[in-house]
Amino acid sequence: MQSINDRVAALTDRIAEACVRAGRAPGSVRVLLATKTQPPALIDSAVTAARAGGLDVLVGENRVQELVAKTATFAALDVETHLIGPLQSNKINAALRALAQLRGPTVESVASVDQAKALAQRWQSETDLAVFVQVNTSAEAAKSGIAVHDAQRTVAQIAQVPGVEVRGLMTIGARSDDLSLTARAFDSLCDLRDSVRAQVPTCTQLSMGMTRDLDIAIACGATIVRPGIGAFGPRDLHA
Ligand SMILES: *Cc1c(COP(=O)(O)O)cnc(C)c1O
Repeated sequence: MQSINDRVAALTDRIAEACVRAGRAPGSVRVLLATKTQPPALIDSAVTAARAGGLDVLVGENRVQELVAKTATFAALDVETHLIGPLQSNKINAALRALAQLRGPTVESVASVDQAKALAQRWQSETDLAVFVQVNTSAEAAKSGIAVHDAQRTVAQIAQVPGVEVRGLMTIGARSDDLSLTARAFDSLCDLRDSVRAQVPTCTQLSMGMTRDLDIAIACGATIVRPGIGAFGPRDLHA
């Protein structure tokens, strides 16, 4: 079996190669390790290996319950932490309480103006809560996120909510094996970011690309890619 160090090294090479192919500086892509189901010891090893390999690494948790359980791990690593999964309103308090203890607290999965308002109301900090707006670029009914045709207007409205700062857009690639669809979805998020930015200057980031499609995401301009199994190995090993 591949060790965590081997996996992270392979991932680092893959990201560097994708940057070269895209004519981008290797440091222009940050790497968010998706930590869902992964135990603290493995997260510690992965973050340490990624830092040693020169990656600009952050972590992302999907489930509030796991974010809460891993708060001490993320705090000890002093690693920027994002929430990347859907956030139900009854979990907002728990999520924000955990994020408030961590570096660079960010919610990437904001999908409505009301949700942004609920977050802002409960965020007890002098500094604005950093958010990304999740866009459903593949128009798959099962996916959360704002529809592309509504996105520009909604992102502008979210940016008006006092207490949150829109840092960028996030999407999950198409489930299809047709990689041209994935590229089209990522391109559409990049175009959207470009048009939103004229109205909302803080909206600069693009969080897109998981293990299967991060090379395409880098070619399409991702500033954050979100590998999980590409760093940790199959999730069912530890689930
Ligand atoms: C699980 C997950 C990832 C990582 O997916 P892998 O296939 O493990 O690379 C990235 N982003 C989100 C939102 C996820 O839920």
